[in-house]
Amino acid sequence: MSTRAFVALGANLGKPARQLRRACELLARLPGTELLRVSSFYASPAMGYADQPDFINAVALLETGMSADELLEALFAIEAINGRIRSFRNAPRTLDLDLLLYGDSVISKPGLTVPHPRIAERAFVLNPLLEIAPDVVIPGLGAAKAFLGSVAGQPISLHEE
Ligand code: AMP
Repeated sequence: MSTRAFVALGANLGKPARQLRRACELLARLPGTELLRVSSFYASPAMGYADQPDFINAVALLETGMSADELLEALFAIEAINGRIRSFRNAPRTLDLDLLLYGDSVISKPGLTVPHPRIAERAFVLNPLLEIAPDVVIPGLGAAKAFLGSVAGQPISLHEE
């Protein structure tokens, strides 16, 4: 059985766009997994601790035979390969991967919450998500596009290389 999963990618240190491309290559190579779509890359100022470079963000759509737990573990491994250092909350990072949606599953347990708790709150997640899946439904919340208005005030732009 395979499941469609959406993964958010973000980076703001090193060469963010290169790290995102590299992460997509690694996602495509996960066992039993096909990388179906990758959004454009978007740039936005860092939230929280502001004195740091802009973030580059994107969303990828996978079709995978991995369980949600296995996929999250794989995301951690890809983060580690890219040298992410977890220093403090909202700190600059070389690569951050989040599991946004795993089919229509609702998961709430230590270490894994799906849909991702902040999926509908961030322009840098919603814009790329809706670009590749305009009619996607967030289990428990409804159509993702209904939340676009509430993040319209958050600065975001397309990242051109
Ligand atoms: P962050 O540092 O913001 O990337 O958060 C990573 C932590 O969030 C890890 O301890 C994960 O176990 C936990 N987590 C819970 N749900 C998710 C999810 N859907 N995607 C990624 N990390 C998650």
